Amino acid sequence: MATVYDNLVGQDHASEILRAAVAASRTGVETQEMTHAWLFTGPPGSGRSSAAVAFAQALVCGYQGCGTCNECQSAANGSHPDVEIIRTEGLSIKVEEIRELLTRVAWAPSMGGWRVVVMEDADRLTESAANAMLKAIEEPGTRTVWLLCAPTLHDVLPTIRSRCRHIQLHTPSDEAVTQVLINRDGVTPAMARFAARVSQGHIGRAKYLAFNEGARSNRTTIMHLPLQLNSLAAAFKAAQTLVDLATTAANAASEVRDEKEIASLQEAYGKGATGRGMATGAAKAVKELEKEQKSRATRMVRDSIDGALLDIATFYRDVMMVQSGSSDAIINTDMVDAINAYAAKHPHHSTVSKISAIMEARTNLAHNAAPLLTCEALMCRLAKA
Ligand SMILES: [Zn+2]
Repeated sequence: MATVYDNLVGQDHASEILRAAVAASRTGVETQEMTHAWLFTGPPGSGRSSAAVAFAQALVCGYQGCGTCNECQSAANGSHPDVEIIRTEGLSIKVEEIRELLTRVAWAPSMGGWRVVVMEDADRLTESAANAMLKAIEEPGTRTVWLLCAPTLHDVLPTIRSRCRHIQLHTPSDEAVTQVLINRDGVTPAMARFAARVSQGHIGRAKYLAFNEGARSNRTTIMHLPLQLNSLAAAFKAAQTLVDLATTAANAASEVRDEKEIASLQEAYGKGATGRGMATGAAKAVKELEKEQKSRATRMVRDSIDGALLDIATFYRDVMMVQSGSSDAIINTDMVDAINAYAAKHPHHSTVSKISAIMEARTNLAHNAAPLLTCEALMCRLAKA
């Protein structure tokens, strides 16, 4: 039978710990198994937030996480009165947001069990926000359970992580991702295998690729960029193509959401609004929302470029595999001829330095380097023999 734990793809050890915690939580008192602060870490795509949400569902479900009851469904879609899912759109979570959250969760759970807060990006807490939250986590006898998610332990302040029980998630195997795409999402086996392989264990990306033809065709264009780098002019052109594709993809995703948000905000202010005061209030709120949306759009473009760079890195990784005689381990099996030809023409040491150049560019982008400039510099390095 299906349960919420099916969403923890390839994470048997974590599932076991969480099941034990849910069973222990029924007593309502804090035990060794059931504590009220948890930290989920794992590489991108390992399903940190899916795991945390599944745990939240199981904590409020009368059947320890059936996945189908009202409790389970409303917990997952954010409408459960005792489950709060904090998804960060901006680049950081500020202290005002945490204070506001703390006043909201100060009440006892309405259904009598636990009140659960899932924070998907605990690594984006500012220092003052983290300190404000620390007090709440330390509070004894609380009925609130904190489920924090971050890429690694080091992304969270030591004071916070030392108070959390740690759940380490791993990159699921290609096989585990393939199976979940076939069984849960109804993807055909051939497509599931392709999407799982090229997504390198990133479940969300695999699913997106499997269902989105535009994303697949963008990926093909991006994967062929390394083959076109035969001059400096070509390198600049490739950088522009990469940034354009990533920007278009990111903007298409945010436009629809932006419009919806503004419409619902205006509606909220429009209801029963009379007089100039309300109009000014609405205009101010819309302006603030637009500012937030702009910072989110910037982040989405950066994430999208980062994803493209990771894809390109798999090309050079495959070349390196061929050059070191392990051609059976290549990821991009659809490009095997091009990869073999490239491997024969270029020295092994340059492949290694190209991969580090890509990783360096990713680090620079994460530190707010200008996207086009960074990609141009990178493509020029990749264009060298
Ligand atoms: Zn349930």
